[in-house]
Amino acid sequence: MFVVILFICFGLLPFSIAWFIGRYKRIGFWGSLLLSILLTPFIGFLITSNSRLKNAPGCNWCGNKDNEAEYCGLCGKNAAGESKPGFKVRG
Ligand SMILES: [Zn+2]
Repeated sequence: MFVVILFICFGLLPFSIAWFIGRYKRIGFWGSLLLSILLTPFIGFLITSNSRLKNAPGCNWCGNKDNEAEYCGLCGKNAAGESKPGFKVRG
């Protein structure tokens, strides 16, 4: 029984986190797998899911390469160039 729990915590969970999330993040499959094994799957999952996307769509209007949301966080425009309602440019 203990071996089964060990296998799930340090085999199945880290692998699933690395395969389903880590692959698409900048941290990568192996970085995510190592973190999940060394720092428990829970912390590995938190770090992996907060890592930046490998192929972030970016913003065509202000050159913000790391934008992952529909509306850009810097200039507030979406892919069609429409501004987010209520968005104000800081500065
Ligand atoms: Zn932008």
